[in-house]
Amino acid sequence: MVNNVKPHQLVAREPDRTGSVVYVRGIPVGGDTVQMIAGPCSVETAPQMEAAAAAVAAAGARMMRGGAFKPRSSPYAFQGTGVEGLHLLTEAAAKHALPVVTELMDVRLLDTFLAAGVDVIQIGTRSMQNFDLLKEVGRVDVPVILKRGMSATISEWLMAAEYIAAGGNQQIILCERGIRTFETAYRNVLDVTAVPFLKRETHLPVIVDPSHAGGKAWMVRALASAAVAAGADGLLVEVHPVPAEAWCDADQALAPAEFAALMDQLDAVARAVGRTLDRGRRTGAPLREGRDHAVAAMA
Ligand code: PEP
Ligand code: MN
Repeated sequence: MVNNVKPHQLVAREPDRTGSVVYVRGIPVGGDTVQMIAGPCSVETAPQMEAAAAAVAAAGARMMRGGAFKPRSSPYAFQGTGVEGLHLLTEAAAKHALPVVTELMDVRLLDTFLAAGVDVIQIGTRSMQNFDLLKEVGRVDVPVILKRGMSATISEWLMAAEYIAAGGNQQIILCERGIRTFETAYRNVLDVTAVPFLKRETHLPVIVDPSHAGGKAWMVRALASAAVAAGADGLLVEVHPVPAEAWCDADQALAPAEFAALMDQLDAVARAVGRTLDRGRRTGAPLREGRDHAVAAMA
């Protein structure tokens, strides 16, 4: 690299530039709206996914999450339902016109993800510095949620985003999901400070995952509210039709009624800070047909 080039020039925010908006099938992430992405930690069965998609849509969220390939600490733990899970996710979400977000760990599966119609590729905390994976998702025309490595500095995280942008894909959404510190009382420490800092440092939209931060369902409401108050452009929340029966991350999943109550609360928090919680599905806003990804600077 030439010495006078900024280390993360493509994702850096120029002083006079407003934030970018990443569109997922016409749904904006960034700008004035706050977007909710919700769904189970892992894709389990068709009935579970159908109930989850119905709950996500009924509460007014516009995108669905669900992991088909799970990065587990133990090789003996449930690893996900794999390619079959991808199809369960897309089929359940399609019935409610919800674009889907799912984690890609293995670069060899990128084409499979695209063929399955994955709308947003999630790069998980454990893969944030898998540079070959970042380079490959940088070459495709699909939005990417780049989660912060659990021990990554902001600079390392922005450099990881730069890897994706350098390949030509600037449809990048950063996701703060909690970091490791000396504290052991909860799963991770939600770095709320990162939100305003990033909004100044980069033009990319910033979302927050309150579920993996606290690791407990009862913490989600407080952490989610703090994130929106701090300026987050959206949230990634784990919701399961029957949390106690979840195959993965049962402690942190919200039940459908809890998620609906969270949406109501966030509506008020967003308004208090001059934003709008996007509940477009509820108000009948049309979802644009097919893949229609674009990134645009806000007017
Ligand atoms: C997830 O979103 O299910 C997940 C595994 O998240 P993280 O990479 O933040 O641990
Ligand atoms: Mn999870």
